[in-house]
Amino acid sequence: MYDYDLLVVGSANADLVIGVERRPAAGETVLGGDLAVHPGGKGANQAVAAGRLGARTALLARVGDDGHGRLLLDSLRAAGVDTAGVLVGGAPTGVALITVDPSGDNSIVVSPGANFRLVPADVRAAVPLLHASRVVSAQLEIPLETVVEVVRNLAPGSRFVLNPSPPRPLPAEVLAACDPLIVNEHEARVILGDACASEDPADWARLLLAAGPRSVVVTLGAEGALVCDGSGVRRVPPVTVDAVDTTGAGDAFTAALAWRLGAGDAPAEAAACAARVGAAAVTKRGAQESYPTAAEVGL
Ligand code: ATP
Repeated sequence: MYDYDLLVVGSANADLVIGVERRPAAGETVLGGDLAVHPGGKGANQAVAAGRLGARTALLARVGDDGHGRLLLDSLRAAGVDTAGVLVGGAPTGVALITVDPSGDNSIVVSPGANFRLVPADVRAAVPLLHASRVVSAQLEIPLETVVEVVRNLAPGSRFVLNPSPPRPLPAEVLAACDPLIVNEHEARVILGDACASEDPADWARLLLAAGPRSVVVTLGAEGALVCDGSGVRRVPPVTVDAVDTTGAGDAFTAALAWRLGAGDAPAEAAACAARVGAAAVTKRGAQESYPTAAEVGL
């Protein structure tokens, strides 16, 4: 009935990474190592993760008519993602300029570029794609009004999944559509604001659920995750691995969760699969380069 298991609506960025001995202070120039350019952005990451897992996946996004845009399209296609919904032009491809020092601390400047030109009219023009998708997922590296337009144009019976990153307060109509809202600790604290007096993530999950979503998932890094819906809070145990690089683990987790929920798994079961995918993603360097196939994680 649906052509796609998952439609991701979101960002696509080129991550430009330079290793430095010391990150520069104001007015200072430092020499770094060779530039590395990686495909990234939360939307593209989620789409590649789902495509690698074997989900029939499409991406609605905007990139520039430039080399970074072509890098992103190549990475998406290599993962089997349908890129017919990736619009080209209007501004340069989004870029993250990242300097990393030997301790692993980084400084990042993001130029959203074409991501901020993905506007509500682009969503309206893509309604056939939305209606061909069992699950639709979004993040917040595109304009919030674009995400609102997605929620307003969902097909009856489809499922909406949101990772509100970078976090900001959300309109009630977006919260009410989320099934689930997926947050890490930082995102939970920002969205709850003053309501977040407790240090217990189970309390955050319950408070977030009370704000309107149909379900909530709180990811806890190496501690696993929590799933919360009308039947209470359940803990999803972590999968123990030797972590090498956690970049993009949350995007892999979200993609896997959205795919498994769409396939009919119960929430705790879907989150357990997602935890395996998230754990696999931290065992390799990079984001999209680290994502496993279903066979590699025994799914
Ligand atoms: P990021 O922003 O780095 O992409 P995030 O903060 O959104 O990630 P996390 O909570 O760090 O999300 O990770 C998502 C999921 O991936 C976790 O819920 C967990 O299942 C898995 N995961 C992350 N880090 C580890 C780890 N060190 N060991 C095992 N599993 C991990």
